[in-house]
Amino acid sequence: MIISEDGLSVYPVKVPTKYNLRSFNFYLLEEAGSLTLIDAGIDSEECWECFMRTMNENGYTLHDLTRIIVTHNHEDHVGLINRISSIKEIPLYAHQESIHRLKRDKAFFLLRIEFFEQLYQEMGCGAAGEQQVQKLREAVRKNEKNRIQADIVTFADGDTIAGMQVIETPGHSSDHVVFLHEQKKWLFAGDHLISHISSNALVEPDRNGKRQLTLVEYVDSLKKCLQLDAEIVYPGHGEFIYNHKQLITKRLHRINEKAERILRLIRSGISTANQLAYAYYKDKYESQFSLVMSEIIGHLDYLETRHKVQKELKKGVWHYDVQPVKGEEGSYESNN
Ligand SMILES: [Zn+2]
Repeated sequence: MIISEDGLSVYPVKVPTKYNLRSFNFYLLEEAGSLTLIDAGIDSEECWECFMRTMNENGYTLHDLTRIIVTHNHEDHVGLINRISSIKEIPLYAHQESIHRLKRDKAFFLLRIEFFEQLYQEMGCGAAGEQQVQKLREAVRKNEKNRIQADIVTFADGDTIAGMQVIETPGHSSDHVVFLHEQKKWLFAGDHLISHISSNALVEPDRNGKRQLTLVEYVDSLKKCLQLDAEIVYPGHGEFIYNHKQLITKRLHRINEKAERILRLIRSGISTANQLAYAYYKDKYESQFSLVMSEIIGHLDYLETRHKVQKELKKGVWHYDVQPVKGEEGSYESNN
């Protein structure tokens, strides 16, 4: 499938997967004689073949590529970059916050392990948390080979690249951006917006090891995109989106609903993030521990910034409680 208008063409590369992501999508954009690769799929033979086939069928070779730009650092969006740049050296553009992750910066990844160790302790996760930290340690060693070799040029909010505006949309990841072609109303959305599943706002530390309020940021980024004029949204997974405002409204609604359900659990007396995760997700708690904890912690942050809950550190573990409504305490609602 090719979307072509006024000398501009988008050639989607869609690699199916049996997982619930349905497909890994990335895109070739041809404009004014330049050919930009937007994201770079997963590192697999199937993905590479699919990419090469899309290039060949449309009369291109790797030597026609002008640049690679990425929406965020996740491995299913940068998978083919090393293969491409080992054949042809081309500029890679990414957000400043992507660099230490793409370059597998050792100090950062050690800091990240310490971050999760402390986080899971403070959230009351016990043995399950320790197990997850051990998995992280192994992943750091295993993923060393995924270090992106190419030099990275950074872009920031408001920059123009390949005729598109760069818009920072942190939340799913701290370095996440979307690319908007204002004239064509095309939005390359990475994992910010996916049609068939809600995107996870993964809990992560920033470069200095400080926890970011990722779900709170994600909500702000969704609201930012609600203002954008886009006719086609090209996502990183699944089908194209033609009604992004409706979809964003639905996602925002779901976040509120989930927060309300968690609030009800807190009212019933459950106080730690770990207990909430277990009560909310049951069997998924074990099989998808890090995702589940991310979701609960994210929604607790969301409730906290809205003054619905407050937390207290008791014996090294955060306990959440419902925050009393100011109006109920007496004089706050009077006119004085
Ligand atoms: Zn992602």
